[in-house]
Parts: sequence; C-alpha cells; structure tokens
Amino acid sequence: MNILLTGGTGYIGSHTAVVLAQAGHKVILFDNLCNSSNEVVGRLEKIVGKKIDFAEGDVRDTALLIEVMRTHQIEAVIHFAGLKAVGQSVADPILYFANNVQGTISLLQAMQQLQIKTFIFSSSATVYGEPVYLPYDEVHPTKPINPYGDSKLQVEIILRDLAQSDAQWKIACLRYFNPVGAHDSGLIGDDPNGIPGNLMPYLSRVAAGTLKYLNVFGKDYDTRDGTGERDYIHVVDLAEGHMAALDFLNKHAGLHVVNLGTGKPASVLECVRAFEKACGKPLPIEFAPRRDGDLPIYYAKADLAKQLFGWTAQRSLDKMCESAWYFEQMHNK
Ligand code: NAD
Ligand code: UDP
Repeated sequence: MNILLTGGTGYIGSHTAVVLAQAGHKVILFDNLCNSSNEVVGRLEKIVGKKIDFAEGDVRDTALLIEVMRTHQIEAVIHFAGLKAVGQSVADPILYFANNVQGTISLLQAMQQLQIKTFIFSSSATVYGEPVYLPYDEVHPTKPINPYGDSKLQVEIILRDLAQSDAQWKIACLRYFNPVGAHDSGLIGDDPNGIPGNLMPYLSRVAAGTLKYLNVFGKDYDTRDGTGERDYIHVVDLAEGHMAALDFLNKHAGLHVVNLGTGKPASVLECVRAFEKACGKPLPIEFAPRRDGDLPIYYAKADLAKQLFGWTAQRSLDKMCESAWYFEQMHNK
C-alpha cells in the first residue's frame, strides 16, 4: 500500500517506516521537523536499502496535504504528528489543541476530500488518567489529567463520531504505553533535545557520562520496590503493532480502540538494573521527591491487540535497554 506517515521523521514514525518499508509497503513521510531532523530520511534509506519519500510541511496545511496525498496516491494514513510534552501542554494548552486537534481535523478534511478512509491514530495511555482499576483495559473510564491527554481524547471523540457518520471509515486509535529502545542498527532512536524528561533517554545519558546521576522520583510508592512502575514497550514492537493494525483494518471497517503495551510493568529500579546490565557498568542514582503529576503505577491489559491484530510485544526490558544503549553510543561517536 501507499501509506502517508505524518510525523514520520519522529521517534515512533521512523521505526514504523522501517517495518512497513521492509514489508514492501511504500511509505511517504510528512513532517514539519519541529521535533526531528530530515537526516532521519537518509538513515532510513540506509536501513531499508531503498529511497524513502519525504515532504516537509505542517499537518494544518490542508492544501499541501491534499497535493502530497494525490501525488503519491495515498491509500492509508498513520498520524504520528503531534506535540507530546506534558509540562509544555500545561503551560500552553492552546498550542497543544491547535497542533494536535486542529492538525488532525485538517488531515481528516484532506482525506475526506480524496476519499481516503483508512486511518491509524497515535493515542496514548494518558487518556485513562487516574486508574480506577488496573490493568487499564480499553473500556476503563477516560479522564486525562493534563491538556496533552485532553488533546488525545478529543481526537478520539472526533474519530468516534466520524466512524459513526460513515461506515466506510476504517480507524484504529492505538493507545501507546511507554515506548523505549531503538532500532538494532543504532541509526534511529529516541533523541530528545536538551535534558531528557523521560526515564530511558535520561539513563542513556547517565551511562554515556553526559549526565552525572539519575534522580529517582519517589521511593515510597505502594509498588513492589517503592519506585514508579510503567509498561515499557520496545519501539520496534510498537512499530510492528501498527502494521498488524493496518492488516486488520484492511479487512474490518469501523473504529477500533486498542492498547499497545506489554501488560508487564517494570519499576524505575528494575530499569536501572537492566540498563546497568546493558552498558556493563553501575549507574549512579539519587532518590528525589515524587514528581508532580506522576501516577504510582499503570500498565496495559494487552489482550485486545492479540485478539484483533494477532499481535503481542516480543522484546524484553533487557533488549529495550541494549538497543537504547547501542543507539546512544552510535549517535555520539
Ligand atoms: P516525536 O516528537 O519524536 O514525533 C512526532 C513528530 O511529529 C516529530 O517529528 C514532529 O516534528 C512532528 N510534528 C509535530 N507537529 C507537527 C505538525 N503540526 N505538522 C507536521 N509534523 C509535526 O514523538 P513520538 O514519540 O514519535 O510520538 C509520535 C506520536 O505518538 C505523537 O502523536 C505522540 O503524542 C504519540 N505518543 C507518544 C508516546 C511516547 O512516549 N513517545 C506515548 C504515547 C503517544
Ligand atoms: N523517572 C525517574 N527519573 C527521571 C525520569 C523518570 O525516576 O529522571 C520515573 C518517573 O517518575 C516514572 C517513570 O520513571 O515513574 C517513567 O517516567 P517517564 O517520564 O519516562 O514516563 P511517564 O511518567 O510519562 O509514563
């Protein structure tokens, strides 16, 4: 198929581009490069051994999207483009609604005009909010606790109404848990600008020596070892989940809301130990107060993805850390 990947030069989009291109699909990346670099395109070409098309642009530019989708005879769209920093969304909610919600509306208008009706949306476990029970299944109440989560839920509501209005739409809302790790080539991975806010890229920098120690936020949660627990998922598993979802959509119309996680939470200290094993040295940590807005623990019920898509995550926490560490070393050579 000819597939448009908005946000295609970003972290998850680039890994999904590899999986799809290697399976024989034609991928076209569309990105405004606000949080990625066009160098990724060359790296992807190196990995897959063929040319990858890239168009620079903003998803709010409906006319440009129509032109790109028409030129490349797009048949399906995977919509990764979005802003994802929770703190920034609290400080500037309008920026988040303009980018994430308005951007999606613009994309759907372009698709509607061209009668392209297969759509995968990058949603997030943050739509659930405070757990009423765990693991979160897809019918768990949705009550996001920040504007980023609100923007994801608003898009989900738009997609629900769209699917109800026209039975030809084939839509998957994929609720990601915590994507980490990198492609085995070491050519693409998670490479945030500045000091990382997330655990795994922070650990990579501690291992590389560019940051001195990890602050472990909270040690007295009601969890196995007192530190926060999350459902970390290897980004290549996540990428494969998109291909499985696309195969499913090709045979099933309607809206499908599905968790993509492993179902197995890991604590901060377990991540530190796995990363130490991967890099072969001890990593200094210091205990710090709980981070504002952090939930103690959450993880996915991952059964629906298996049932519908025949997909389950395959790669271990050790593998996530090994690939993240390899990427860090390759990247900073
Ligand atoms: P990323 O920042 O690496 O990739 C997003 C890409 O979208 C970037 O390349 C950015 O330049 C581009 N982009 C942003 N706004 C755009 C716009 N208006 N027009 C065109 N391009 C635009 O982030 P990621 O981790 O790859 O996340 C991809 C998607 O998955 C996002 O929608 C994010 O909210 C969602 N998600 C991510 C996580 C995570 O932990 N990484 C978890 C849940 C959901
Ligand atoms: N965390 C930490 N130190 C850091 C960054 C994160 O202890 O420098 C913890 C955080 O409190 C949480 C877990 O690691 O329990 C995952 O945090 P991350 O920001 O990666 O993901 P999110 O909280 O968004 O799920």
